Amino acid sequence: MLNVPSQSFPGPSSQQRVASGGRSKVPLKQGRSLMDWIRLTKSGKDLTGLKGRLIEVTEEELKKHNKKDDCWICIRGFVYNVSPYMEYHPGGEDELMRAAGSDGTDLFDQVHRWVNYESMLKECLVGRMAMKPAFPKDYHEEKKVLNGMLPQSQVTDTLAKEGPSSPSYDWFQTDSLVTIVIYTKQKDINLDSVIVDHRDDSFRAETVIKDYSYLVHVALSHEIQEDFSGLFYRKCQLVSKEDVTHDTKLFCLMLPPSTHLEVPVGQHVYLRLPITGTEIVKPYTPVCDSLFSEFKEPVLPNNVYIYFLIKIYPAGFFTPELDQLQIGDYVSVSNPEGNFIISQLQELEDLFLLAAGTGFTPMVKVLNYALTNIPSLRKVKLMFFNKTEDDIIWRSQLEKLAFKDKRFEVEFVLSAPTSEWSGKQGYISPALLSEFLKRRSDTSKVLICLCGPTPFTEQGMKMLHDLNFSKDEIHSFTA
Ligand code: FAD
Ligand code: NAD
Repeated sequence: MLNVPSQSFPGPSSQQRVASGGRSKVPLKQGRSLMDWIRLTKSGKDLTGLKGRLIEVTEEELKKHNKKDDCWICIRGFVYNVSPYMEYHPGGEDELMRAAGSDGTDLFDQVHRWVNYESMLKECLVGRMAMKPAFPKDYHEEKKVLNGMLPQSQVTDTLAKEGPSSPSYDWFQTDSLVTIVIYTKQKDINLDSVIVDHRDDSFRAETVIKDYSYLVHVALSHEIQEDFSGLFYRKCQLVSKEDVTHDTKLFCLMLPPSTHLEVPVGQHVYLRLPITGTEIVKPYTPVCDSLFSEFKEPVLPNNVYIYFLIKIYPAGFFTPELDQLQIGDYVSVSNPEGNFIISQLQELEDLFLLAAGTGFTPMVKVLNYALTNIPSLRKVKLMFFNKTEDDIIWRSQLEKLAFKDKRFEVEFVLSAPTSEWSGKQGYISPALLSEFLKRRSDTSKVLICLCGPTPFTEQGMKMLHDLNFSKDEIHSFTA
């Protein structure tokens, strides 16, 4: 639930229309796009019905607000009146109603824990939960210690007085989840400012603000599994932006000096930008700086820079804002996510990549990794679907790679070619696939990766099943 509109009401025929990851979206009424919602939140209208007051909400009170026109939902201890948001919710009203009058944290996390609901719903905030649910019987509250302010550097009395006000903390829990919230009263706290350690029966979170470090130290009575819910974001600086096709650019972002982040093969991250005052988040798949390192001297060290191939949609919501960024500007980058497992490539003999448009992006690292690290690999074939020749990303690099490495073959298929195009045409089809996907032998280990617009991926999956490829032999990239 509460999946923030990741697309601003694309038209019915747009491939962006259908939710990624198989979630269904419902058609939103005219005037109910993400932009319309942001406008409403900025209009000064009282969206909670409480005239700006924040209240403490008891569980009994929360339960009463369980109707469409009076719907409160608790997420991580904060209660929102989501009734005004109902018609703007891309997942539909029913989806939102599943959490009406209750704690929707688990439901929310199941769908999109990366969604920045705090920003999206800030005008709907009713207040905080007043009563904590019962402690589990083996939770020792008396051992909970807040060590308060520990100056990191030598601090004089004056400095201490001038220092930031002490954070406070609180915690909430459901049957399976304990959430510890630290209120720092500081803007822009990011990953660099928070150090979290969990050892045996102690959980320790240190928050560094200016010259101070604040320690929350909680003693636990039994083992817990860590899940730092909500993704961590760090601000990265745009260092270069290069045209790759008429509408697709290679963005290079620099990670902060204190961050070590290498996005695993096949995973994506979320980029976050404030758009008219609201933090908006969209997923993107990091690539390498070129298809193969030999095509470009790696002048920039890895782990410091992160590259994205991003198509700019003039009528899109997020990408025109990304395109507006100047060198030196910042964009927030989340931790990686994704369900591709690198061991899927182990002992592989034939790797088939079916990519459409920017669905090419996850293939870049997969291709690179497979050719470099999988000795058993005999063939990698990429079938790359685009509208026109001008849309093909890194065409000459792909052709060079095919020329240089006998194991690699590429085939371009165009859905809207000019009359000069003599290559393959059309959309993904059983005929194209059965000709392309020739396995070496009945027993050879094969993997087919698939990524592109949702209808492309869905149709492709069905065709592959009809061609008798097993589930284990297919990986589709989705959010
Ligand atoms: P949107 O606002 O979502 O619009 C998308 C399309 O709909 C555009 O064609 C736009 O013109 C059209 N549209 C918008 N509003 C309307 C309207 N009212 N009526 C009709 N049409 C409309 N993309 C990349 O470029 N590179 C990547 O590496 C990448 N990785 C991804 C990884 C994952 C896991 C997923 C799920 C997606 C990835 N994407 C990637 C896609 C990306 O997340 C965005 O969906 C994409 O950038 C479009 O965002 P947008 O807000 O600019 O466009
Ligand atoms: P596009 O509009 O340029 O289309 C590229 C090709 O996709 C077309 O030539 C056609 O062959 C195929 N295609 C398009 N619509 C189709 C349909 N209805 N049925 C069958 N085939 C169709 O593509 P684009 O604008 O580059 O969009 C790329 C898509 O890939 C986006 O939807 C993006 O969200 C998705 N993507 C997903 C991931 C991921 O999930 N990991 C990563 C990157 C991109």
